[in-house]
Amino acid sequence: MVTTAKNPLPNLVLILTDDQGYADVGFNGCEDIPTPNIDRIAYEGVRFTNGYVTYPVCSPSRAGLITGRYQGRFGYRRNPTLNPFDPVAGLPLEEENMAEILRKVGYHSGVIGKWHLGTHPKFRPNRRGFHEFYGFVAGGHRYFPEDLTIPDIESVDRAGAWYNTKLLRNETRIETDEYLTDELSNEAVDFIVRNQTKPFFLYLAYNAPHTPMQASKKYLDRFATIEDPLRRTYAAMVSAVDDGVGRVLDTLDELNLADNTLVFFLSDNGGASNNGSINEPLRATKGTIYEGGMRVPFAFRWSGKIPAGIDFDHPVSSMDILGTMVDLTGVEISADRPIDGVSLMPFLTGKKQGAPHDVLFWQMFDKGHSAVRYGDDKLVMLEKEAAIELYDLSGDKSETKNLGQEETETAEDLLKRLEKWQGQLKPAIFDPLGTWNP
Ligand code: CA
Repeated sequence: MVTTAKNPLPNLVLILTDDQGYADVGFNGCEDIPTPNIDRIAYEGVRFTNGYVTYPVCSPSRAGLITGRYQGRFGYRRNPTLNPFDPVAGLPLEEENMAEILRKVGYHSGVIGKWHLGTHPKFRPNRRGFHEFYGFVAGGHRYFPEDLTIPDIESVDRAGAWYNTKLLRNETRIETDEYLTDELSNEAVDFIVRNQTKPFFLYLAYNAPHTPMQASKKYLDRFATIEDPLRRTYAAMVSAVDDGVGRVLDTLDELNLADNTLVFFLSDNGGASNNGSINEPLRATKGTIYEGGMRVPFAFRWSGKIPAGIDFDHPVSSMDILGTMVDLTGVEISADRPIDGVSLMPFLTGKKQGAPHDVLFWQMFDKGHSAVRYGDDKLVMLEKEAAIELYDLSGDKSETKNLGQEETETAEDLLKRLEKWQGQLKPAIFDPLGTWNP
């Protein structure tokens, strides 16, 4: 366990963006959208060049992130219906999440922004270990306060209107008056100020830059030179997040908490095909089993504890964030639900060399698309197309040259590993998004 003089437990700030492209942060080379504040996390800490999430769409990716487990182990295989009357469409109660785990060692936890792990009352943050919730429970939201006209998700009367509900503070609906990304940033700063004397865990889950594409003039004006209106709005939405990240980091500095706070940053999946994002040089987008779907902007900062300005090139997973939290806090995990994530701290401080994971796996349940990465080899299995593809990511990170017909021994080895892992998973436990017709 790591301790400091100020506080025996480090504060934990997990910043998640939504559908942000791999190439859409300065620390991965973005030129048309400055992200100086997000870049501070990477440049004052570590940039992960091979950081993955566990699924290429929002909700199952979040289930893997927050439990530290491959979500397929508990049947979380797709985006759930958003039906608030459906008692199975959410994170199963027996699965421990970050806030429930950290609560055992005294953390005060808050989630700000997008929940998307169940809309039924029993699945909501205040029933799932979080002391504080400020945001919305569905998979996205409209950004302008005048659009938030529906009292609660229970009163939604048409598909998509869950984007128009009023925000919740804990279990109470509230009125807001600012652009949503700014509202979430305001609340994040306030959370840190209010909780500065206790060990806290802040999960700041921006829904930007997920659709609907909406930005306020303040941010759009920064990108007058971008001609494509979609890219321009996207840039403005990312810039609003970047301002918020800057305010969070400045608040930690002002309160003298930076050296006692580990900040994590990542996107929940790759850039989407409909929001103007860019994943280059990675192949494809959100919703696919290729690198552009699952490899994301990923960085950690812990001033004085993690060396500044390093690149970490071995594959890591969003599940490792909980693995790292568990290591740092010494908290016990339920023996019957071991996490798949590992602590990255010894690899970042140089105590351990090599790769944290031998192998990483993915499966898109409804599409029947799976993948396994072992070293630099990646096997893609397209069950419905009865096709196997093999790529060597060391020289072909864009997945352009299928070696499946040439390197059959490697392909067979990876396929065996993949099938063994698939055998540990459960079928889908809930109905998919789109099946609730209010
Ligand atoms: Ca997403």
